[in-house]
Amino acid sequence: MDITQILLYAFIFALGLVVGSFLNVCIYRIPLKKSISFPPSSCTNCGKKLSPLELIPVISYMLLRGRCRGCGAGISIKYPVVELLTGFLFIWVFSVLGFSTVFLKYAVLTCILLVVSFIDLEHQIIPDEIVIFSLAAGAVLNIMSRDVSLKSAGIGFFAASGILLLIAIITKGGMGGGDIKLMAAVGLFIGTGPVLLGLFLSFIIGGVISLILIILKLKGRKDYIPFGPFLSIGSLVSALFYNQIIYWYVMRL
Ligand SMILES: [Zn+2]
Repeated sequence: MDITQILLYAFIFALGLVVGSFLNVCIYRIPLKKSISFPPSSCTNCGKKLSPLELIPVISYMLLRGRCRGCGAGISIKYPVVELLTGFLFIWVFSVLGFSTVFLKYAVLTCILLVVSFIDLEHQIIPDEIVIFSLAAGAVLNIMSRDVSLKSAGIGFFAASGILLLIAIITKGGMGGGDIKLMAAVGLFIGTGPVLLGLFLSFIIGGVISLILIILKLKGRKDYIPFGPFLSIGSLVSALFYNQIIYWYVMRL
């Protein structure tokens, strides 16, 4: 790794932190049906507007030691976590795809899936606004990056969402409407093969993690466990490594 590459990765990481800071605004405001562009960020407890210094991702959290300067209320650790996660995920996606329109496409997908996961964890919903944005963004970015054919995107829209719809009908509501709509949008975004593999991976990841939560008695057998985060992890891994995973699987036959 030479100095140019290190600088490039530092830039991508910093970009991720700044974008992550905006994702925090989305995660907080979208479920409350508030505008994500106005007003500027303020303390959720006392309403004090954040100064430019306090808007710097992660660093401001450390400088403030996790407390509001106005009222001293604790700031959730979730904020720097989302920022750092976005930074590291951007680096990861960049290391796989390099500088390209394809990177832009999957960076946007990463952002969507992060917002979906954190909102689903907190509110057990996947807002329609995000699904609609994902459909529009997917269509535009597919035209720009041309990595998914129109046919694959079209069938992808129905593939995983159709399976989830079937599960929802058979289990009488065991799968949420938000999950179904999300996977329709993700299918359009990443195409038929990747979205089906993504669904398969999310069942495995979701199954294993749910089992661990139940064994550790953090969740009961009947407790609701949001599925959005698992769909997100499975979809992102599949979107980035579809060819490698299929190749690895075929070579083992
Ligand atoms: Zn405050």
